[in-house]
Amino acid sequence: MKVVVVGAGMAGLTATRLLRAGGAEVDLIEGGRRAGGRARTLTDPFVGGRVVETGAEWVDTDHHRLRALLGRYGIELAPRGQEWSAIRRYLFHGGRLASADELRDADATIDAQLAALDDVFEVIAEGIADPARPDLHPDAARHDARSVADVVAELDLGPLATLFARRNAQGEFADEPSALSTLFVAQQRAQMAAEGVEGVVRAHRVVGGIGGVVRGMVGELGADTISFGQLLQAVAWEADRAIVHTDRRTIAADHVVLACSLVPMRRVRFEPALPEPLARAVAELGYGTVTKTAVQYAERTWPNGYATTELASQRIYETTEEQGDGPPVLMAYTGGDGGRRLAELDEADRIATVAGDVRSMYGVTDEPLVGVSRAWSNEPRYGGAYACYRPGQVTAHWQVLREPCGPLHLAGEHVATWTGYLEGAVESGERVAARLLGRAVVGH
Ligand SMILES: Cc1cc2nc3c(=O)[nH]c(=O)nc-3n(C[C@H](O)[C@H](O)[C@H](O)COP(=O)(O)OP(=O)(O)OC[C@H]3O[C@@H](n4cnc5c(N)ncnc54)[C@H](O)[C@@H]3O)c2cc1C
Repeated sequence: MKVVVVGAGMAGLTATRLLRAGGAEVDLIEGGRRAGGRARTLTDPFVGGRVVETGAEWVDTDHHRLRALLGRYGIELAPRGQEWSAIRRYLFHGGRLASADELRDADATIDAQLAALDDVFEVIAEGIADPARPDLHPDAARHDARSVADVVAELDLGPLATLFARRNAQGEFADEPSALSTLFVAQQRAQMAAEGVEGVVRAHRVVGGIGGVVRGMVGELGADTISFGQLLQAVAWEADRAIVHTDRRTIAADHVVLACSLVPMRRVRFEPALPEPLARAVAELGYGTVTKTAVQYAERTWPNGYATTELASQRIYETTEEQGDGPPVLMAYTGGDGGRRLAELDEADRIATVAGDVRSMYGVTDEPLVGVSRAWSNEPRYGGAYACYRPGQVTAHWQVLREPCGPLHLAGEHVATWTGYLEGAVESGERVAARLLGRAVVGH
């Protein structure tokens, strides 16, 4: 069996490894010059050997495939981790930095309001029998048609709870509450429940950076077996074979695994055109935006802890807190409309904006030593942060994106049950490999 895999992100690397292990002949082509895709660790230009994640950063408690991969390459998780709760350590609001306790003193009902919002998703999640098929919820169309903003409005949340709900949507789903299907958010809950996670999730960074996993996977495949700098441009396909055209080569294959995000896939020519429901799903699926901006200072002069802010940065945390002594790096994680606004600025202005927010919040008057900002929506091979199913899109597009189309198979976080995560990318690669090898499951 001859397979072309397009994209050397986590999904494409996983599919390639498992297909080769199963005896298939696999050509892995990658448009860029490096593997890893949205897993992108930097050490340069930061001083003091600091490791900074400009893309994926956290591995959650229930991300078993990722944890198995870390184990495979002898890589550890940083021990402390974070609790993924709506209210983190601090809120900067009305020109004041308040701790979570002060916040609760100021608004005694804040936890109850956020719990009421959670309950809405929880109840819908209970109706999802299989998190791989949220479209089969008995009332799927109604819940899919509602946005998270609709739910917030129905609950009549106060201003602080509304701000937290918005920051959660922008942070976890990379878009505004109005752009998010309620059924999609409930699906993610159902997935967590299926993995046995109740309540708060703990997330951990990877010691030395997530790039270590990418190096491990590339090392196992052999870097010389990946064709870098080859952009997929066209696919001619029929029932049981395909011809793939990159900007440099033409390759015939029995199957093509499209393990790149849908935004660059919209520029690929398919001959014949993809069937209407699939073509529409590829053209329309929502992508959120995240702009991550890292600013390094000579020393820590701020209180440690994850802060939510009403300022442009949205959420600021110290990304190097578990890396021992050395010049610390603060990270701004900015999603949705705020992420898009930052993306319109050049990199120096984004860094200056975040440094200005750090000054306002923490009174830090020093200039940053260095800074790096990556706006994922500006990068042509990504065109956004991760898939964000908009109102109506779970029922319209979920299943059609996950079914094979002749010799064509989509992989990547956008077609996983763990949508938006590294875990989902790996899961999707495993699923396609199992399908092509004719097995129920391929182990990780
Ligand atoms: C800012 C940000 C923060 C995140 N945080 C986390 C987190 O903390 N934890 C977590 O688990 N996940 C996180 N994620 C999500 C995670 O990074 C992704 O889900 C995952 O990396 C996606 O992997 P993939 O293989 O599906 O796609 P990608 O990583 O996008 O890989 C696709 C590859 O295809 C290549 N490609 C694209 N078009 C073409 C073409 N035409 N021809 C050839 N090659 C092409 C690209 O160059 C790329 O290498 C985050 C993502 C972002 C953007």
